[in-house]
Amino acid sequence: MEQRKGRRLILFPVPFQGHINPMLELANILHLKGFSITIIHTNFNSLNPSSHPHFTFHSIPDGLSESEASSKDILFLISVLTAKCVEPFRECLASLLSDVSEDPVACLISDAIFHFAQSVADSLKVPRVVLRTGGASSFTVFAAFPLLREKGYFPIPDSRLEEPVAEFPHLKVKDLPVIKGCDSEEYFQLADGMSNGTKSSRGLIFNTFEDLEEQALGKIRQEFPIPIFPIGPFHNCFPAASSSLPLATEDKSCISWLNGQAPKSVVYVSYGSIVAIKEAQFLEIAWGLANSKQPFLWVIRPDSIHGGSQWLELLPNEFLENLNGRGHIVKWSPQKEVLSHAAIGVFWTHSGWNSTLESICEGVPMICMPCFTDQMVNARYVSNVWKVGLQLEPGAERGEIERTIRKLMVEKEGEEIRARSLKLMEKANLCFKQDGSSYQSLDGLVKHILSLESFVFRTQ
Ligand code: UDP
Repeated sequence: MEQRKGRRLILFPVPFQGHINPMLELANILHLKGFSITIIHTNFNSLNPSSHPHFTFHSIPDGLSESEASSKDILFLISVLTAKCVEPFRECLASLLSDVSEDPVACLISDAIFHFAQSVADSLKVPRVVLRTGGASSFTVFAAFPLLREKGYFPIPDSRLEEPVAEFPHLKVKDLPVIKGCDSEEYFQLADGMSNGTKSSRGLIFNTFEDLEEQALGKIRQEFPIPIFPIGPFHNCFPAASSSLPLATEDKSCISWLNGQAPKSVVYVSYGSIVAIKEAQFLEIAWGLANSKQPFLWVIRPDSIHGGSQWLELLPNEFLENLNGRGHIVKWSPQKEVLSHAAIGVFWTHSGWNSTLESICEGVPMICMPCFTDQMVNARYVSNVWKVGLQLEPGAERGEIERTIRKLMVEKEGEEIRARSLKLMEKANLCFKQDGSSYQSLDGLVKHILSLESFVFRTQ
């Protein structure tokens, strides 16, 4: 731990697993750098302060009704939170800024998606630095939405899905980061808010590294008039954060099960914290896994199948009976520990950014089956740009699933992909060595934050 800096940072995450994890990891990194940390969080998906005794927590009333809070519609939840959190957030931030019993505040660090935090920060004259928890490549696409809309890409017609996107040569039209059937004005407003709020901020932190997304980072540096800090992968810099999952209970039984499996033999299947799939797709996955004859560890969240199923009751008896210990199913896994286990051969993922980075850091090849928003961009980069995985189309049937698993696990193409995954893993590890790109960028971020504080003191 570096010498205390006598300065406090106020962090404000978006209350979903894939956003809270990186924000808490960032908090740990900056705490190690000597800052004291205060976290403002909503009552919805509330955080547990006892898991982080070195931080101070303040919860704000988010005003969500019971039925709103139980919605599975992410866009709806973000819209309601955005509307209802502004005033409670302003009040909480104002009271923290005026609290002279604590270290003076150097800046606010908040999630890019909560763009309303920019005008609140401006009104209270506190500098805001943005954390974008997704990748830089997908961020460039969100930032280009006004142009892409002008050019007529949306709504995406089925006839154009396979066409390349002229403005983003790596992407096909079907990879554009929308939510199918939901490319409403509200969605585009959210993306514009994220992009414009970020442009007005005092800096942008990414959980990525130069070698991975050099091109996208270069584009953002040209288009955004603020300093950019790619200081990821966060969990590589602060490994201890991996055990501090705020929203779900990890089932550690999978680690003892993995201990009994051969090296690089297991297909790990997880769709992150939000994605839900249709019953028919769920059954195709089950049979594809069973028919591949590879051992598998499958995370099935109780709310992850459309149609109200409770948990495993959709799986036919013969599926469970014929497994003979070759499959292990849990509701939530300690994912980083799982991916670093020697028995894992492949990660079948929905291509959320955290999962993608976690897999890259362990050199585990991926099978990508993205569902919405940035997952489609991430999956295309995994399969076609970094070439460390294969992509399964939505609705893939058991035969295709079985062939894809076997391609990666036993065929020559899989060997090549595995070799590239290991090379990329080395790069992910090197960036935190002294003088590595993320190491330097983190140094730059610390200096930048310390240079912002004069702004706070001058204007308060
Ligand atoms: N995760 C986990 N256990 C699981 C499934 C997911 O710990 O069984 C973690 C995973 O390590 C990652 C996060 O949940 O840090 C999911 O974030 P991601 O961006 O991949 O997807 P999202 O949940 O936002 O769709």
